[in-house]
Amino acid sequence: MSAEITKTGEALPALDFGHAWEYAPSPEATDHVRIAPRHELFVGGAWRQPHSSRYFDTISPSTEQKLAEVAEADERDVDDAVQAARRAYDRYWSRMPGRERAKFIFRIARAIQEKARELAIVETMDGGKPIKESRDVDLPLAAAHFFYHAGWADKLDYAFQGRAWRPLGVAGQIIPWNFPLLMAAWKVAPALACGNTVVLKPAETTPLTALLLARIVEEAELPPGVVNVVTGAGATGAALAAHPGVDKVAFTGSTDVGKKIQRAVAGTKKKLTLELGGKAANIVFADAPIDQAIEGIVGGIYFNQGHVCCAGSRLLVEESVHDLVVRKLRDRMATLRLGDPLDKNTDVGAINSGAQLARIRELVAAGEEDGAERYSAPCALPGKGFWFAPTFFTGVAQSSRIAREEIFGPVLSILTFRTPEEALEKANNTMYGLSAGIWSDKGAKIFWMAQRLKAGVVWGNTYNKFDPSSPFGGYKESGFGREGGRQGLLAYTEVGQ
Ligand code: NAP
Ligand code: MG
Repeated sequence: MSAEITKTGEALPALDFGHAWEYAPSPEATDHVRIAPRHELFVGGAWRQPHSSRYFDTISPSTEQKLAEVAEADERDVDDAVQAARRAYDRYWSRMPGRERAKFIFRIARAIQEKARELAIVETMDGGKPIKESRDVDLPLAAAHFFYHAGWADKLDYAFQGRAWRPLGVAGQIIPWNFPLLMAAWKVAPALACGNTVVLKPAETTPLTALLLARIVEEAELPPGVVNVVTGAGATGAALAAHPGVDKVAFTGSTDVGKKIQRAVAGTKKKLTLELGGKAANIVFADAPIDQAIEGIVGGIYFNQGHVCCAGSRLLVEESVHDLVVRKLRDRMATLRLGDPLDKNTDVGAINSGAQLARIRELVAAGEEDGAERYSAPCALPGKGFWFAPTFFTGVAQSSRIAREEIFGPVLSILTFRTPEEALEKANNTMYGLSAGIWSDKGAKIFWMAQRLKAGVVWGNTYNKFDPSSPFGGYKESGFGREGGRQGLLAYTEVGQ
């Protein structure tokens, strides 16, 4: 073993994890999962062809193989869906007692649990995320969101300090590709609990689990039109946001599209919530439990390929432990397993699309041009599909694009600080404000920082932890409105004085 001397004079033994753990392939069996070759629109409780008769392909980003054809909804289809949702709102859902709505929502929650394996496999095939992520994170959380909101449906009279409330009407909901089923759950569950009906538009590259959710809604025998799913591209989402029959628009996605939606609803009576991008600071103090922090850093940016809005994509490290943290991070990265997302041992799966891979490559090239030093984990990339090796940059200037723009890939920008004030200033020096992490042995320091960080969620000595009872949402250009918790109910209700 050789030793390396750090800037601070500390000798670090070279760790050779590289090939310590060889795992035999352990692919999840997929033979029981049947993906229908063609998927129609779910409108008014029935499966319908699109007016245009047009379909688009959804592929597996890890193999580039076509999985299915999916209907492309145009303005007329969106109009049908909104009208179906309106009828369902007027006739059934807004009149139904909360305890009855709750029964339907509980049914959906239980069905998600029962079908969890199939849903996880389809999520992984369609989007490229590792099966252990979809199986252990997305699916349990999606079910939990329905269970949690089913619990609220008959208790809403107690949710707003005795003030009167009413549902908003028809909710148009547009979601991204990074957590397709979970984002559908975050949107649909609170809307239904509060007595609204829904038109959901999933992302173009990951429509399949939203369509399976529509099947579950059908099997749970919700009144027709309470939940409608219209698949399609950006134009479908734009038609939904602009539809005059929509009372509430809920959007999760990029800040650019969020701004377009905000312009589209300006001057109307529509209520709007936006969950947008992020550039979270993960702040490591010298007194932090460093090994624990390394796990948090790795989980916060490399798991799920960095396709996480609240990914800890800017690592702020106290200068005295910079070399130690970088060294340990490099060693840990050598043990990450990248490859087949259906393999149960895989840590890093496929990038969601060719377009997203091109964006990651563009920003990484910009980081190199700006003079930051790049390190990429030494892992072999499969020949087919879209892949990017876990990467970090050291020596990153705050002005660099890789410190300012959301990369939405497994790429970490490392910056240093000397005092808590400097860490705070750098952490808040962003147009975003979705999340942040703090690693320190001192609780008082964590609270001091958390009070001053302009981020909707702040984690202390952990990262990327979610719970349906905990509200989630952004500051500044990360959007407004909260999802989850009692605060999340406000997004789907009109509350009196
Ligand atoms: P995106 O391009 O903004 O797309 C999001 C959704 O909007 C997709 O369904 C998309 O359809 C649709 N869309 C596109 N153009 C539209 C338009 N003009 N009007 C209405 N809808 C339109 O985002 P993405 O690339 O799918 O997702 C990544 C982004 O989501 C990242 O910025 C990430 O930070 C953010 N995100 C935020 C949160 C949060 O809670 N804050 C959570 C997850 C993700 P197509 O798929 O057909 O383009
Ligand atoms: Mg796909």
